[in-house]
Amino acid sequence: MSNQELLFKSFQDVVRSTFHEDFIALHRPVFSDSEKDMLCNCIDSNFVSSAGEEIELFEQKIAKVADRKYCVATVNGTSALHATLVALGVSVGHEVITQSLSFVATANAIALSGASPIFLDVEPKTGTLSSEFLYEFLKNETYGKAGGLYNKSSDCQIKACVVMHTFGHPAEMDKIYDLCQKFGIFCIEDAAEALGSMYKGQPAGSLSDAAVFSFNGNKIITTGGGGAVVSNDRSLRDRLKHITTTAKQPHRYEYFHDELGFNYRMPNLNACLGLPQLQKLNHFIEEKRKLFYKYRDFFKPWDVRVWTETEGNRSNYWLNAVSFSSREARDNFLIHTNNVGIMTRPIWQLLPTLPMYIQCQNFDKGIASSLYETTVNIPSSVPVYV
Ligand SMILES: *Cc1c(COP(=O)(O)O)cnc(C)c1O
Repeated sequence: MSNQELLFKSFQDVVRSTFHEDFIALHRPVFSDSEKDMLCNCIDSNFVSSAGEEIELFEQKIAKVADRKYCVATVNGTSALHATLVALGVSVGHEVITQSLSFVATANAIALSGASPIFLDVEPKTGTLSSEFLYEFLKNETYGKAGGLYNKSSDCQIKACVVMHTFGHPAEMDKIYDLCQKFGIFCIEDAAEALGSMYKGQPAGSLSDAAVFSFNGNKIITTGGGGAVVSNDRSLRDRLKHITTTAKQPHRYEYFHDELGFNYRMPNLNACLGLPQLQKLNHFIEEKRKLFYKYRDFFKPWDVRVWTETEGNRSNYWLNAVSFSSREARDNFLIHTNNVGIMTRPIWQLLPTLPMYIQCQNFDKGIASSLYETTVNIPSSVPVYV
């Protein structure tokens, strides 16, 4: 057996000894009777749609996990991010800084608000926005005018920076938020993947002006589909509630909508699924930690880097990632694992390479592209013991 065959064979063994399905997905949800009970009660109550008590309860609990005062639940993470940008005044002609390595939703939310993304490169260890490159960009490529920050090359106003905690690894938020405040732009965490992660003892989602979570079926907890925005700003919360619920003025029977609004509210049925999921969050994180240790020990003898939380921080290890020494090694691993029913996949193709964003400014330092060439996500569900 060649070295490579030995790696594939023993990887298959370790994955199959952990997950007992025939086809092993990258990330499937875990439910128990409590989800079924909650959903049945919800159906019996008739409150399955836009009204219901569980929405507020879910919002309160998410705010608590993120150590925030306010939370507004939405239909998905993309809408949460879009509504946040709109509520903060981002619109046509503006620009928003983000990272070149992220799920497409990060850039789509910026584009949907009417603004253009500016892409910066990431940290090699965590794939999160580099504070160093952010500083370099802000210092060299922008100027201040009439209380706003402008881009030297486009003369467009830069309104915000969206930072994403890649696969659950928190970005260097103290430096990034500090830079955003010094240069007068909003800082938003795309914490879609990082519910329960901690940065220097503080939860992901608590480290910026506003943060967004996703509860899609593949995230650490799920509401089927869902999202949320958390913040400490009462007026932002009120504005978000308003524009995500068709901008209807409260009235017993009149329908008056005072501006163009979205129908982005989370249905109560989804909140009912989310509540028992949220009760399992700490358990899920513990199990994911154990899985990470298993993978770390497994890959130790091989020339493969397992992405690891950085010192002083805690990752929720939502999705494990491993980086190979070459693109060829990555490709061989992808082909072999997918051939035997173990789902693995390369990380996202970089946002500035997608047709809708190819024209956008991109400050490429070669880091995200080298991560793309070498990195694979491996099965990371919470194991189910039967
Ligand atoms: C999942 C995800 C989103 C958005 O989530 P949806 O709920 O699917 O709209 C946004 N950003 C990142 C980084 C994500 O992983």
